[in-house]
Amino acid sequence: MTTPSFRLPQKRALVTELPGPKSTALTARRQASVAAGVGSAVPVYTADADGGIIVDVDGNSLIDLGSGIAVTSVGASDPHVVEAVREQAGHFTHTCFMVTPYEGYVQVAEELAAMTPGEHEKRTVLFNSGAEAVENAVKVARLATGKNAVVAFDHAYHGRTNLTMALTAKSLPYKKHMGPFAPDIYRMPGSYPYRDGLDGAAAARRAISQIEVQIGADELAAIIIEPIQGEGGFIVPAKGFLPTLVDWAKSNNVVFIADEVQTGFARTGQWFASNDEETVPDIITMAKGIAGGLPLSAITGRADLLDAVHPGGLGGTYGGNPIACAGALGAIHAMRAYDLPARARAIGDIAFTRLRALQEEIPAVGDVRGRGAMIAVEFVKPGTNDPDPALAKAVAAKALSEGVILLTCGSYGNVVRLLPPLVISDDLLSEGLDVLESAVRSLT
Ligand SMILES: *Cc1c(COP(=O)(O)O)cnc(C)c1O
Repeated sequence: MTTPSFRLPQKRALVTELPGPKSTALTARRQASVAAGVGSAVPVYTADADGGIIVDVDGNSLIDLGSGIAVTSVGASDPHVVEAVREQAGHFTHTCFMVTPYEGYVQVAEELAAMTPGEHEKRTVLFNSGAEAVENAVKVARLATGKNAVVAFDHAYHGRTNLTMALTAKSLPYKKHMGPFAPDIYRMPGSYPYRDGLDGAAAARRAISQIEVQIGADELAAIIIEPIQGEGGFIVPAKGFLPTLVDWAKSNNVVFIADEVQTGFARTGQWFASNDEETVPDIITMAKGIAGGLPLSAITGRADLLDAVHPGGLGGTYGGNPIACAGALGAIHAMRAYDLPARARAIGDIAFTRLRALQEEIPAVGDVRGRGAMIAVEFVKPGTNDPDPALAKAVAAKALSEGVILLTCGSYGNVVRLLPPLVISDDLLSEGLDVLESAVRSLT
């Protein structure tokens, strides 16, 4: 095992108020040129990033507990990724895999077949974004089964394209006034132990019984689910929920799609969150952590399903771009060299111990949950489980003012989530947690 080395000092240091004058000037230019529909969680512009640190244009060094939404697990400028990208860019930037193919694409497909759950024969297709991977997983499932209906769950997030908006649960900001949405999508209750109190078997029975009543297995092409829900609030289903759904799908010719766009690539302490209960999805969708920040996504699944599609039925001009593939091979190399699954578990041990102690102390901390380095605090009105989104927002804002980047999420907007780069040092992580804890104490 090798330990990561860094270009930038791994130290928080503020030299201006946040945002500083240069960030504020960029915000003004942005407002005159970039569409308002693209939000930014943090009004601070990036100049450099490495390991657990983002340096802004005013020279402030911030602790990154967001990884650009679970993307830069190996850091934002890991040498394995940077070197592989430089080397590839010096040769060819694009040919289109559908015109003159290249080895990098094939190598990524071989790696994904080896890393994803299950020993069966697999095939892979590469795309650019998580939403595109989800769209294509559904296309494959429909063609291979000859059926149309697709089941998604409460609190699901699958993307912002038309089909994936339909699969996504939350209206504002993702879908409101942007319909009509794709038909034949059905939403089922999932498993949210903090709010529904059901064990895994009972939650699965509830979903399966509604599927049988409202759709029927003979109409259902696929079930798509995040093994731990991301944007919906880092909701970890009760044990047994996923295996029961998988068993039902397998015995009913329904394709089980695990959307591991956020949970994949060591984030939860194993290569994939599906590994936790040894569930083997028929198709797995991947993106975010796959390529150290380069835009790449993938579906990997049963060879009989993927190969059912006629030549030309899957693809795209940029899908599996050679530079993005080089980035993925560099990132996968780095994840193995640094043993990032073990590192994610160690991050979880540190964070959950501290945050569970905070939960004992502060009644507004309703739930602390997650797995590995996918860590969440759900805020509620004390003495109830009524969501407190204002508090979650205030905690993130207070942490930012002290140089710590924290993201919020949740159907009710009341969850603060931590997604540190997996290469972050223990010291920097602890300092970030100090800031989070003191923000919570000072605001409650
Ligand atoms: C982010 C995300 C997507 C969408 O990925 P994009 O690259 O933003 O299109 C899909 N599914 C899950 C679970 C995600 O977290």
